[in-house]
This record gives sequence, C-alpha cells and structure tokens, in this order.
Amino acid sequence: MTKWVYRFGGGQAEGRAADLALLGGKGANLAEMASLGLPVPPGLTITTDACLGYFSGGKCLPEGLQAEVLEGIAAMEALTGRSFGGSAHPLLLSVRSGARASMPGMMDTVLNLGLNDETVQALGHDAGDARFAWDSYRRFIQMYGDVVMGLDHEVFEDILEDEKARLGHDYDTDLSAVEWQHVVSLYKQVIAEELDEDFPQDPHVQLWRAIAAVFSSWNNARAVTYRTLHRIPHDWGTAVNVQAMVFGNLGSSSATGVAFTRNPSTGEKSLYGEFLINAQGEDVVAGIRTPQSLTEEGRLAAGSERPSLEKLMPATFAEFRAICTALETHYGDMQDVEFTVERGKLWMLQTRAGKRTTRAALKIAVDLVDEGVITEEDAICRIEPPSLDQLLHPTIDPGIARTVIGSGLPASPGAASGEIVFTAEDAVAAEAEGRKVVLIRIETSPEDIHGMHVAEAILTTRGGMTSHAAVVARGMGIPCVVGAGGLRVDMRNEMLIGPGFTLKRGEIVTVDGSSGHLLKGEVPMVQPELSGDFGRLMEWADRARRMTVRTNADTPADARAARSFGAEGIGLCRTEHMFFEGGRIQVMREMILAEDEAGRRAALDRLLPMQRSDFTELFTIMSGLPVTIRLLDPPLHEFLPKSQEEILEVALAMEMEPGQLTRRVEALHEFNPMLGHRGCRLAISYPEIAEMQARAIFEAAAAAASETGAPVELEIMVPLVGLRAELDYVKACIDKVAADVSAETGRPIGYLAGTMIELPRAAIRAHVIAETADFFSFGTNDLTQTTFGISRDDAASFIPTYQRKGIIVHDPFISLDFDGVGELIRIAAERGRKTKASLKLGICGEHGGDPTSIRFCEEVGLDYVSCSPFRVPIARLAAAQAAIEARRRGSGQ
Ligand code: ADP
Ligand code: MG
Ligand code: MG
Repeated sequence: MTKWVYRFGGGQAEGRAADLALLGGKGANLAEMASLGLPVPPGLTITTDACLGYFSGGKCLPEGLQAEVLEGIAAMEALTGRSFGGSAHPLLLSVRSGARASMPGMMDTVLNLGLNDETVQALGHDAGDARFAWDSYRRFIQMYGDVVMGLDHEVFEDILEDEKARLGHDYDTDLSAVEWQHVVSLYKQVIAEELDEDFPQDPHVQLWRAIAAVFSSWNNARAVTYRTLHRIPHDWGTAVNVQAMVFGNLGSSSATGVAFTRNPSTGEKSLYGEFLINAQGEDVVAGIRTPQSLTEEGRLAAGSERPSLEKLMPATFAEFRAICTALETHYGDMQDVEFTVERGKLWMLQTRAGKRTTRAALKIAVDLVDEGVITEEDAICRIEPPSLDQLLHPTIDPGIARTVIGSGLPASPGAASGEIVFTAEDAVAAEAEGRKVVLIRIETSPEDIHGMHVAEAILTTRGGMTSHAAVVARGMGIPCVVGAGGLRVDMRNEMLIGPGFTLKRGEIVTVDGSSGHLLKGEVPMVQPELSGDFGRLMEWADRARRMTVRTNADTPADARAARSFGAEGIGLCRTEHMFFEGGRIQVMREMILAEDEAGRRAALDRLLPMQRSDFTELFTIMSGLPVTIRLLDPPLHEFLPKSQEEILEVALAMEMEPGQLTRRVEALHEFNPMLGHRGCRLAISYPEIAEMQARAIFEAAAAAASETGAPVELEIMVPLVGLRAELDYVKACIDKVAADVSAETGRPIGYLAGTMIELPRAAIRAHVIAETADFFSFGTNDLTQTTFGISRDDAASFIPTYQRKGIIVHDPFISLDFDGVGELIRIAAERGRKTKASLKLGICGEHGGDPTSIRFCEEVGLDYVSCSPFRVPIARLAAAQAAIEARRRGSGQ
C-alpha cells in the first residue's frame, strides 16, 4: 500500500530534508527540524503523490489517505494532550501547502482549523482569554471562507471595517470578545447568504475539505503562471502539511516573525528579521501592522524606537539565535525561517534556503568557506552563473528615488547616463569631443554599430529581446532598453516625446538596462566590484574547471573588456565587423561591386593596411593568448549600398554610371542570402579576399609578437565549410600567403587552420574534414539554423507560438537543442577526433555563454567555450560547475 502520510514531532520524524520531491520543501524541512530536536509543533505531511492521486482520481482524496491522516492526528493529540474537535482542550490545526520548489504566496494555507461554536468556548477557557478565542475563530472563518469555500476575502474585510466604524473604533483598535463574537456571527451569516450553505461545524469535514482545497490550489491561476514563468513542471503537485497550531496572538508575551540568518541584501553575517507582538503569522506577511526589528542592531540601523525581540524577550531570543546558527551549520547555507512565540515558548514553523541578491550570495558562499562550513566546490555550485551579470555593470544607487519617464524591455543590464543623440554619427562626433551619449533610435541596424559602440547606453522604441539593438548591446556589454513603445522619436526635430514631456538632443537621461527604465537626468551609480568575494570565487572556479574560456571579440574594446573578465583567448573574431566602420564600408562596397579581379584587388589593397592595424592591436592586447580569426563570412549584400544617395556616392568613387552600378547591385541580389554566396564560398569565388585577410593576419601577428615579445597563437578559421575540398582550397590559399610572408620577413610562421562546423554535412563528414582541419569550432547559431531549417532572423514570428503550444520548450537559438544540434556536435567531435586525436574543439555560438549549453560542452569533452565578453565570468563559473558535476557523477557522489 502507498504511504501517503509522513509524521513529525516530539523530536522525531519519518521524513528527511532529502525527501523534497515527496514531501515538498516545507514538509521535508519540518521533518528535518523535528528530527534535529528543534521545537516544531507536531504534525504530518501528506505527500505530493497524494496530490497527484487526488487529481487523477477525479478530485477525490486517494484511498487510505484519510485513515493515515487520522492516525497522524491521534499521534498529535497524544503529544499535545489535546483532542481534535474535543469540547475540552481542543486541538487546532494549520493546513499548509508546500511544493517541491518554493512558490511564495502562490498557494494556500488555512490556520485555526477545528474551531466551531463549541470548541471556541473551550479554546477561550483553556487560554483564559475569550477575546483571543473569538478572534481566532473569525480569522479561521475568513481564511476558510476564502480558500476553501471560495468567497472573496474582501467580503470579510468589508464587514470588519463596517463593524469597526459602527463601533466607533479606529483602524488599529482591537475588538473585545463580545465584539469579535458578533463579527463571527456576521461572517457566518454572509457565508450562508452568499453560498447557500452553512459554515461547516464538523472539524473533520473542515479538514478534508481544506486538504482538498490546498491540493487544488496547485492549479489556481497565479500558481500556474508562476510555474510557467519559473519553469517549474506542472506535474509535480504540492504536499500538504497538517500541523498543530501554536499561537503568537496570546498577548504581550506572544509574537510571530520571520528572519534571515544573514542579511539577504548584503550577505553580512548578522541575524536579520522582523516580528509582531501578539499576532498570527499572516499579519506579518499581510503588512497590516508594521513589524519591529528582531535584533538591537537592526533596530538601531532602522532608527526605530520600538523595542527589539532581543530586548523584550532576551531568553527566548537567545534560544532563537542559537537555533538559527544550528540550522545554518546543519544546512550549510543561509536560512529563511518562520517562528512563533506562544507565551514565551519558541516554536519553529519553517526553514528554507533564503533568497538573496547576487552580491549577498557571493559574500555568504565565500564566508561559509572561510568558516569551514562548506567547501570551495560547494561555494562554486551555490552561485547561479547568469546572476553574475548583475555585478559586472554599474548599477543605479539603490538608495536613490527614481523618476522613471519611460520604460521598455530590459535588453542588456547595467545603467548609464549621457546626453541624448539620435544618430550614430552624432554619437561618434560627441564621443570624439569627450562627451557621454545615450543613443536613442527607433531601431538599429548594422550601420549604427560605430555609434552603438561609443554610446554609454542605447534605447530603441521598437524591437524585442532578440532585436539587433538588444543582441549587439549585450555583446558589447552596453546597457540597453528596447521596445520602449510609450516613447516616440521625432527624427526631424530631434526630439524624444513621451507622455507629458519632450526631450531635445543634448538633454541628459539615464538608461537602466536591468529594469528597462528610462530616467530623467543623471543619477548616482554604484560601480562594479570585481575583486573581493567575486575575485576569490572566480579564482576557485578557474581551478575547478577543465575547459578554457575564450571570448568572441571583434574590436580592441571587446578584447580588453574580455581580458579584464578573465578570457583566455579569442575564440571568434568576426572580421566583417571591421568593414562597417568609418570610411571602410565605402572601400568594401567598391571591392564587392568591382566588375573584375583587378578592381577588387585595387580595393583590397586599400583594405589591407586597415585590417592589419586592427589585427595588430587585437593581437597586442591578447599578448600571446590564442586568437581565432574567421575569414569573411556574411552574404555580400549586407554591405551593399541601399539608398539612392549611397549608390551615388559609390558610383562617384568608382567612376561608374549610377545606372550601371544599380544593375550591378541588383545582380548581386540573392533570394536566400543566408544559404547563398557567403562563407568559404566567397573565398572560393574571390580568393583574393582570403589572400588579403591572410596577409593582414600574418603581418599583424609578426608586428604584435615583436611588440609584446609573445608569439600569437594564431588560428585561422574558414566559415561554412560543408565539403573537405572547400577547406582544402581555402587552406591552400592561406598556406601560400604564409609561405610568401615568411619569405619576405625571413621568419617562419606558425598557425592552425580549421573550420567552423555549422552545416549538418560538415558534422557528418567530420572524420574527412579533420584530415585537413587542425581545429573545429562549433558555430551553433548557424548549425541550429541549418539543422532546423529555421532562419534565426525570422524565428521570432513563430517560435513564441511553438512555445505557447508546447511544441518546443526552449528557444533553440538561446538554449542548445541537445537532441538534434547536440547530437550533430557529438558526432562531429567523435568522428573528428578519431581522425586526428589532437583536433582542438570549441564552441563559438551564442550558446557558448549559456550555462546549460556549457554543461553539454563539458560532457562532449570540448576544449573551450567562447562567448561575448560580458558573459566570460558566467562561462567560467558555469564551466567550473559542469566540471564539478562531471567529477561528482564519475565518483558516484
Ligand atoms: P507560506 O508558504 O505562504 O509562507 P505557510 O504555510 O508558511 O505559508 O503559512 C503562513 C504562516 O502561517 C506562517 O508563516 C505561520 O506564521 C502561520 N502558521 C502556519 N502554521 C502554523 C502553526 N502550526 N501554528 C501557528 N502559525 C502557523
Ligand atoms: Mg511560510
Ligand atoms: Mg556562421
């Protein structure tokens, strides 16, 4: 027979903290606390399986459940000396939800269950306090009426308010026993009227219905939404905890409160919490009365006159503090606890790992290592890698009141202030004069890159989280808000118009990319702190990981930022970005539009020194670290002139008829550029492009090496290879240039030539391609695109629908598709290494900075991951966690 019920109390428990899935977080931890001998009111936990049984059995309590609950209640009666439904010494119960993952406030709890017209008298007699008994009864009816019977709680609140008004009490005045008794009769009356049924008097009926209601609250609308948002499975179900009530509302020696064993916003090692005298738990949460500080330290910090619990009940407080310390040591983590004091006696009602800011999480993890409570590896595994992002950018001083004048999607975290500009050109000009700017656009395009680069922050009025502005800003680590639909850009008059205001070019604003806010004026910032706790944890992570972490960097600024975040090389340098800047696009256009090789070579000769100086700077910054340079990849049409104005400009420079040039532009038009004339296909059609790039790379490497004294570890990467013959052809060009440059300088040139694996054919033929390639870099953006046959740029129009309809769970462009794309990576890694054991393997798609994808890379045995600069710390930590997990799995821990 299935065991539905696990008991706890009297220093013992049938469950343990490890039974989280079956008993839910609250139940598992109540059991753990009870078996640690802590003062926990006795109770029982009904399993999540029972909840699932309740749903699958057409909302009937599963067979055998009631009998087990009754046995558990008998045990509680024995421990408390009270009887459930008894006319003397009644046992009252709390019926509490508690799922496997914490879902604060999403599901329901009923307190004081077991009260009726008879037991209320007995309760008053026991307590010697009739007022307390009637107050408890009305609380019970209100909660039960709401949670179980479905009558809105406001109905009861309205009645209470009217009654207080009628009695001439102000809001804070407590009612007398007789007055509460009258409120109870009004409550019962409204239930009978509204629901056509009497408030149930039989405690057992109350109990079964409450259990069913708590099960059902798993599927209430807010709980379902919460789970969807937090990716909690809908088929877990909730456990139900039935527990003897203790009373924090029995006068001035009673209290109830919540505490964190350390400060959850700073991580400071000091007990932090609040309590209310003479109150029941829901009063603290509901914020009906303002709670008092638990500790003297807290009271002083808050500048409050109202005494702390430490002062009011020193003995009880001392016991509480000792329990908090014991819990922390036992769980090895900061705890969030709920407690009640009944006439001086302390009771623990809940404990769980406390939520905290990233800053606090770091400090707590590092301190716990220093205190000898956890190991360095435990500390590494405590921190959510993506949360590190919060620490890498300046943030708005949390102590400042915000004047928000607009908002959109928080596309790239951090905050920055500057004067408004509306064009990339203005941004560049202002920056050249040393002024800080915020670039505001309707949307951005590749031609805005140079302006985006110099901007402190970016805001667009259109676009979503994967729009051009969002993706580029995240890559650059620039704060960005997109889709600020309430704002309008008036380009002609250079104004930003919002509800009730207009801002002109040059006025100062602040963009907060973490919250999505636009603020007026400049606001004080808190600078990121990369040493201290952060530095120590990252050091441990670096020791723990196996894979190296590189960065995707196209510019010196990217490379510098990435190195400061600990990048160990460049895994992807996209050379095309170098052609968008300043006057270069013009030369690039001339090259593309040239009618013959001679024309192309003429333009390429002018591009060569520009590329060489870019590479020299990059190599110098990376001094001696590996750098992977990818040859030109994008479809040429991305560089083509679009407006009539641009065509005229190019025609003039090329001494061509505008009409002729327009025809040439049209001839280059492609129906499906992403599958068109791009990648290594360009180098095969126009080898002179690859030759120029190779020459620039080799000459720059020589220059940088003589400057830094450290030879560059060069890796040249050929994009979009599907056939080995493609790679052979391009590699031959590169080798030839290497030989030439070597002859010219009289020095040998060392480098690796490899390819991106971004076509399914390349993955499948990896054993053959590896005969030529020295390394593979998985270009998972394109590999996802080509495996699914989904264009990344068009995916936004249907992926959300797929997600809503449950056809896919995660966007495969954000989180690697392990089953399909991942399988291709496995195949390629395996086959490639079979041909060449020394084959270097890495990943350079967006997924290289995604923790779950990084875990996959560890499993497949890649040598490195490469991601955008601001994700480098995230990847370092995620790679460490992946390595630790793999080791622990290997040793069966
Ligand atoms: P939540 O998960 O929303 O915090 P809980 O089940 O913890 O809900 O219940 C809310 C509050 O009800 C608790 O913080 C506590 O103050 C009070 N409570 C729960 N069980 C008891 C009990 N056995 N005795 C007294 N108060 C209780
Ligand atoms: Mg709680
Ligand atoms: Mg690609």
